[in-house]
Amino acid sequence: MRETILTVKKEFVNKYKKGYPLIFEEALENIKTLKEEGQIITLIDEKKAFLGRGYYGKQNKGTGWILSNSKKSDIDYKLFYDKLRNAFSKREKFYYSRDTNAFRAFNGEGDGIGGLTIDYFNGYYLITWYSKGIYAFKDMILKAIKALVPLDGIYEKKRFDENGMVIDENSYVCGRKASEPLIVKENGVNFAIYLNDGAMVGIFLDQKEVRKSIKDKYSENKRVLNTFSYTGAFSMAAAKGNAITTSVDLAARSLDKTIENFTINNIDHKEHNIIVEDIFVYFKQAKKNDLKFDVVILDPPSFATSKDNRFSAARDYKDLIKLAIDITEDEGLIVASTNCATFNMIKFKKFIDQAFKESNKNYEILEEHHLPEDFAVTEKFPEGNYLKVVFIRIN
Ligand code: SAH
Repeated sequence: MRETILTVKKEFVNKYKKGYPLIFEEALENIKTLKEEGQIITLIDEKKAFLGRGYYGKQNKGTGWILSNSKKSDIDYKLFYDKLRNAFSKREKFYYSRDTNAFRAFNGEGDGIGGLTIDYFNGYYLITWYSKGIYAFKDMILKAIKALVPLDGIYEKKRFDENGMVIDENSYVCGRKASEPLIVKENGVNFAIYLNDGAMVGIFLDQKEVRKSIKDKYSENKRVLNTFSYTGAFSMAAAKGNAITTSVDLAARSLDKTIENFTINNIDHKEHNIIVEDIFVYFKQAKKNDLKFDVVILDPPSFATSKDNRFSAARDYKDLIKLAIDITEDEGLIVASTNCATFNMIKFKKFIDQAFKESNKNYEILEEHHLPEDFAVTEKFPEGNYLKVVFIRIN
């Protein structure tokens, strides 16, 4: 096996001894010897003791991932096969579920291979490659998937080049082509998926438990405002739970996509509101008109720029919550969600607390969510659990 041996700086040795999976430049002595992504890397300490073996692949997070902490194991077909088999068998419950056929089948370092995720959509597998390095193992990984599970087809997104964005190209890899849309089910709610339509396929699977909770516990006869609504996934959950929903998103595409999702759930979209508008403009008008909702869902991107507004979750989330408080009924509910990796749950709750203090309102936290179980995380890389969702009741 062609491998590059790199020495870990003294102060980082302990981190790797404990199984930290991310390889990052600051931790390494002789980084210059790395040439080609996909190269096998073996990390050793200054006394040449083995620390881990992985691959070179550049992502915004780091320089590569450790795939094995055993000196004897090679980065080969068997390693990929075993990790995939283990991950798929852990999802047995999802494979056999009657009301859910969309889930994450393999979640990066949480399942032992950083830089690789695989989502399952009703018979189809969607692979996301986060670096040229992991893409170098494509043949082995495809072979392992085909050997392990029956499937209709495989699609892929390459999130390298162009600063981690998906470059617009054909996502089809092999098998049958998926219908467009491909209809999937999550806890009895249908969603329209487009596997071959750019970076986002129509649903963010990491919110499955949040959607379920909204549907089952907080929607009956409620007026629900879904902000940053994208394809209206939260609106579908709420509407299935008998809410009247208002979905607001800046992107023109959200209108058709949200109507389509209502239609495939046999819900008349005309009984719901779908608004294409800057949410900050909407908040202002709603306040002026004294509009109030029973439930307000906040799920903004970490960064967003519109004509008149620039939003950064780390800087502006507190103000976003204040805007929501203004148009939520007393005893109403705010669902605040963020996938921003630069702050943790403790800090997020501080934003919430400040917002309520500044609005002179009391609150109670009813639920907290992180990533669901199909989005496996390892305690060796806790920062992989980026999702933070808080259900807040105004008192
Ligand atoms: N909550 C969604 C996912 C949100 S993705 C879900 O659960 O599926 C982020 C969305 O925010 C995008 O659709 C984008 O168009 C929208 N967006 C970004 N800035 C916005 C703004 N200022 N006002 C309204 N929508 C905005």
